[in-house]
Amino acid sequence: MPDLIVIGGGLAGSEAAWQAAEQGLEVVLYEMRPRRMTPAHTSGQLAELVCSNSLGSNRVDRASGLLKEELRHLKSLIIACADVTALPAGQALAVDREAFAALVTERIQAHPRITLCREEVTELPIGQPVVIATGPLTSPALAEAIAALTGAESLYFYDAMAPIVTAESVNMEIAFRASRYGAGDEEGDYLNCPMNRQQYERFVQELVNAETFPLRDFEREDPRFFEACLPIEVLARRELNALAFGPLKPVGLIDPHTGRRPYAVVQLRQDNRAATLYNLVGFQTNLKWSEQERVFRLIPGLEQAEFVRFGQMHRNTFLNGPALLHPTMQFRQREGLFFAGQITGTEGYIGSVASGLVAGLNAARWVAGRRPLTFPPTTLIGALCRYVSTPAPGDFQPMKANFGLLPPLDPPIRNKRERYAAYARRALADLEAFLSTL
Ligand SMILES: Cc1cc2nc3c(=O)[nH]c(=O)nc-3n(C[C@H](O)[C@H](O)[C@H](O)COP(=O)(O)OP(=O)(O)OC[C@H]3O[C@@H](n4cnc5c(N)ncnc54)[C@H](O)[C@@H]3O)c2cc1C
Repeated sequence: MPDLIVIGGGLAGSEAAWQAAEQGLEVVLYEMRPRRMTPAHTSGQLAELVCSNSLGSNRVDRASGLLKEELRHLKSLIIACADVTALPAGQALAVDREAFAALVTERIQAHPRITLCREEVTELPIGQPVVIATGPLTSPALAEAIAALTGAESLYFYDAMAPIVTAESVNMEIAFRASRYGAGDEEGDYLNCPMNRQQYERFVQELVNAETFPLRDFEREDPRFFEACLPIEVLARRELNALAFGPLKPVGLIDPHTGRRPYAVVQLRQDNRAATLYNLVGFQTNLKWSEQERVFRLIPGLEQAEFVRFGQMHRNTFLNGPALLHPTMQFRQREGLFFAGQITGTEGYIGSVASGLVAGLNAARWVAGRRPLTFPPTTLIGALCRYVSTPAPGDFQPMKANFGLLPPLDPPIRNKRERYAAYARRALADLEAFLSTL
């Protein structure tokens, strides 16, 4: 019997299996491809990149770059393979996708303590430590088994994500704090971006004509996809005032700068505990990311908005992590069960690698009777694991690594470049100090 079973040989599962095996565990890694494919993968290789071949920035003063640097310190297999198969891409880490996946597959297959088993797992193994890393397109049979464990209401199948902007990038000389009819606390819970009629009509015109992502076949074919939540541009196409009577209705709001009720209002809702991030309420969308930047910056107060996440709608199997997980990636009700990757809500390629690494390391510690690790919240790896396991206002949504997840600096630094560089210095110093105590 192996010490650990890892289900799913994507980015997270490959990393988790590697980390656990490097700690001395005998690991069996189950991957259902190529026998059974997902709707997005096209090969039988482990760690196949389903879309872009870019793993994001390599600069440590960018969140994605800092997370990669932390993962390099932690001897990540995936980042090492990406570094070896990198292509020229300026300051980003882009890879030759075939060479990258082939190298990960080769390294895993050559590991003396990992057995790769090409089978679909349809039930949760009982009585054994397990890491589940089956990703956003988890096979239906296993998804059903996971839902039976978590409760169907805690496993989601679709994402309808609204964009998130940093609070500091909202122009508060135009936007104002309030809740409709003065509900909420005294200051008001929402940031409100007011529009006059002319601004509203121009915004709607640009929105309905903006370029969208084409839907993939499996998204177009499944009617539940659209029932989940209507994209804002689809609603806007119904009639000119559909938004003004819907998510942008100005009722119960007076603009303190003019003393009048605006024609329409875009509301921004607090998205993290530190109140550094706000989401645009009702703005789930299929607009291309460059179009989101262009069109949503027409909203008064958001001219300089810094987007830490763009709106998206896609099929995505993920847990309600804040109700189910510890920041160690352990399932709260069964400590020998770990989740890793996009299914935990650590969004994107590198976020998936990060939670995979944490799950693999911690599964090895747990098997050895040692206390699993909770990484410092000042590191991005720690902040991401904390984000997916900590209750916060609003509905839980997956999140990419971003600096808004980190605790503020003390004393604060106003200049953005200097602040990001300071976040990176603090994260790497804290990670090193943390590792030296182990
Ligand atoms: C269509 C699509 C496009 C995306 N594009 C990007 C992008 O461009 N950039 C980005 O950063 N992120 C993107 N993502 C989000 C996400 O980062 C990736 O999906 C990432 O690959 C997630 O890593 P993972 O290891 O969690 O899952 P995956 O890489 O999907 O790995 C999961 C593995 O589990 C296997 N599996 C599933 N069920 C079973 C089972 N029952 N038994 C055995 N094996 C099973 C699958 O075959 C797969 O190999 C995209 C997601 C999707 C769905």
